[in-house]
Amino acid sequence: MGVTICFSFGGGADHPLSDRAFWDEHMRDSMHMSNGGAAVLVNILCLSGGRLAETESQKRMMVYIAEQNQYMYGLGNVDLDIDCLPWDRAHFAEDKAFMLRVIEGARQKLGWETLDYTPNVEFALSYLDEYQILMERMTEADIKDESLTKWLDWHKPDQPPKCGFPKCSKHDAYIALDGCQVCTD
Ligand SMILES: [Zn+2]
Repeated sequence: MGVTICFSFGGGADHPLSDRAFWDEHMRDSMHMSNGGAAVLVNILCLSGGRLAETESQKRMMVYIAEQNQYMYGLGNVDLDIDCLPWDRAHFAEDKAFMLRVIEGARQKLGWETLDYTPNVEFALSYLDEYQILMERMTEADIKDESLTKWLDWHKPDQPPKCGFPKCSKHDAYIALDGCQVCTD
């Protein structure tokens, strides 16, 4: 068990997983962690991004990250693959720079003082290093427009990210459909 994060969840009909070359590319730089490790990674990304997001598309990214809540959806049931994030083609360059700042902010322990536990720094830094390598590979050409449109369609008008961007008063993190990921997972 555990959580595997890779660059792309799948390539569609043009890139069958049975194709060895695609599979090798699919898994390149992929990272594997325990379920608990994934919860910590999401915790510290939410804390950092809650303090750094400025634009609507950046806040959407952080709501998506906050939705990766194993307490709500089951152990191991998170999807942090890079091209599954709700990338907005209109703001790609600034949003990629933002995500790299979120990773760096997590490295600087942004918001960690609000946690009820102390993350293992050695593990946290290794997860952030690996996630950054995957994030750096993202290009505008890799954007799947449906990652944003389907994700938005899935939400009702009274749910984040469509009801404004409420935050957790304790963690200053953006709240997802099921509340604050840092509070619950
Ligand atoms: Zn919270």
